[in-house]
Amino acid sequence: MSTNNVFKKFIQRMKAGRKSSSEKTVSSNSPEMMGELLHMVKNTDDVEIGCDEVFELLDQYVEMEQRGEDVTRLLPLVERHLEKCRDCREEYEALKQVIEAAAPDNA
Ligand SMILES: [Zn+2]
Repeated sequence: MSTNNVFKKFIQRMKAGRKSSSEKTVSSNSPEMMGELLHMVKNTDDVEIGCDEVFELLDQYVEMEQRGEDVTRLLPLVERHLEKCRDCREEYEALKQVIEAAAPDNA
């Protein structure tokens, strides 16, 4: 139950950020995508997502991580999958490097 609340907060924040932000970072957050996310997060205890779904979420996941969001709480299914799936883990590492390299102020 609390996971849903966290997720709603997250979505509100994403929407707010998208409205006010002038940066051209995230552009793939369609309402349908959010619906899917909400649907998935309802049953986090039982449900596992597949490589395709992880792949869909991976860029968001990495971007959120870059922003210092608590991805373990917000996208627990992705986190869980990455722990188990080596392919997606590699994809994640690669994407992370790309995004880090593209970041305007990488330390
Ligand atoms: Zn996978």
